[in-house]
Parts: sequence; structure tokens; C-alpha cells
Amino acid sequence: MPNYVVGHKTPDSDSICSAIALSYLKTTLGEETVPARLGELSPETLFILDKFGFEQPQLKTSFAGEGIYIVDHSDRIQGPDDIDDATILGIIDHHKLGDITTSTPLEIWVRPVGCTNTIIKMMYDFYDVAIPKNIAGAMMCAILSDTVIFKSPTCTTADIKCVEALAEIAGIDDAKAMGMEMFKVKSAVLGTPIRDLVLRDFKDFNMHGKLVGIGQLEVLDLAIFDEMKPELMADIVKLKAEGNRHTVLLLLTDIMKEGSEMLVVSDNADLTEKAYGKATVDGKIWLDGVLSRKKQVVPPLQDSLV
Ligand code: MG
Ligand code: MG
Ligand code: MG
Repeated sequence: MPNYVVGHKTPDSDSICSAIALSYLKTTLGEETVPARLGELSPETLFILDKFGFEQPQLKTSFAGEGIYIVDHSDRIQGPDDIDDATILGIIDHHKLGDITTSTPLEIWVRPVGCTNTIIKMMYDFYDVAIPKNIAGAMMCAILSDTVIFKSPTCTTADIKCVEALAEIAGIDDAKAMGMEMFKVKSAVLGTPIRDLVLRDFKDFNMHGKLVGIGQLEVLDLAIFDEMKPELMADIVKLKAEGNRHTVLLLLTDIMKEGSEMLVVSDNADLTEKAYGKATVDGKIWLDGVLSRKKQVVPPLQDSLV
């Protein structure tokens, strides 16, 4: 029976490329390991898989009784629903440490870098395994995605060095240009059903017993959302009620202006004043310089909800 590698719900490019890259590494080291996904893939991830000739990892949501490696998260709420019935063999992640616990020893690689694939590159180096060309390309794209082409405050020199090394292995001359090509695909939101957009990169958090959902859409120009905003707002109101959530936030991130407009629905009327020092106007605030959910949005919110 093989082991599996699985990223978070609503998989992003990092979760999928990590699963592919780690499965290859583990299998090469003699432990048969298969990549899996918990949901449908975004256009950006499909672009990466197509570019480097990969099939989609198998859709698998139940892991009871199986051995799994968890990548790109360590919060139980973001992982498989029956995660408590699986044997967790390892966690490779770059987020805050979540609430996963185990009853058996495990391997943990957690680093405060911009992308899980940067950590997996360190693992390849540690085990002295050569990275195949197509896997290097996919890993490189995941790092460019998670670090917003090095603009995110989560980006470290390790991420930049990894992209350079992976680009060389993959035979890519201009990594940043490929990053821009990817963000163009990501910015093509017109015609997509509103709920699909809201859930495209959506994560739930348990903040001191309160359920908080935070979505993010990263685009080259925020103007693309101008006409959609009332519908987006109405949908997060619905999503809050459906999931019995305390708060739902939707970050509309402009990667060129380097900031985010946040749409806010919350049980706390003064939520953003407490967390970000700014009151909403019509349920919205602009947060200059805010690109990262994990580093700039989640920590002050979590602190303010104590
Ligand atoms: Mg992720
Ligand atoms: Mg990531
Ligand atoms: Mg992200």
C-alpha cells in the first residue's frame, strides 16, 4: 500500500506541486508515495501542470488507515476531514504551526520561508537526489506563485536562490517572465461564477473557538473587480451564514500596486479597527502593502479575537 502526500483543501499551486515533488523524492528513496489532492484545481495550477506535462494528482479525500505526508498546512481544519484516522508520517510546511498532533514519531520540516517547495528543494539537497527537469519547473512556478514573484513579505533569500537553481535545472531563462505569464492566467476572472471566485483560494481558521474564513484573489489590476464587488460582497455574507462563521474576509490583492482591498463581514463591527487600525467603509478597507494572508492578515486578526 503506498503512502500519500496531500496539501490543503481548496488546493493551490504550492499544495499540488509539493505533493508531486515530495512523492517523487520519497519514491526515489525507496518508499512508494503518491500525490493526492483534496479538491478541484485553479486555472493557475492547471497552467503549471500543462506546461510541464503532469496529470492532475488523484482526487482523494479520505485517508483513514493510510500513511500520509501533510504539505503546505498543519491546521486540522484545512486538511482531510478524517485526518485523525490517518497515520501522519511527516509535515512539510511554511505556515504558523497548527493543531495537528500525532501518536507516532514523524518527520517535520517547517521553515519560515515563502513556499513549501523551497523546503522540499532543501530536502532534495539533504538526501542528494537529482530533481527531474519537469518537477523543477513546477516547483519553481509554485515558489513564484506563493511569493508573488518575490514581492510578498514572506519571500526570503532562500526562495530566490531556489528559483534560480530550479530555473537552471528546468532550462528556463526568464523565471520572472514565466511568473508574469502565470499571474495573467490567474487574473482572468471574468466569466467565472462568483462562488467559485470566492472559494478559489479560501481557508478556514479556528481562531480561539471562532470560525474565520479568509479568501484571497491575486490579480495584476484590481479594476477587474469593479463591477463584481457588490456580488462578491453578497456572496461572502451568504458564505458566513451557511458555515455559521464568525467572520468572512475576502482579500482582493493588486500585485502591481502591492496592496489589498479587504471585503469584510463579521459579528464584530469593530473587527478591522482592532486588528488593522482601520474602520471599514461600506464593508471594505484598503490595506496598503498587504500581500500576504499568512503573515499580514492572520496574525493581527488572531490576536484581536482573543
Ligand atoms: Mg497554500
Ligand atoms: Mg504555500
Ligand atoms: Mg497564497
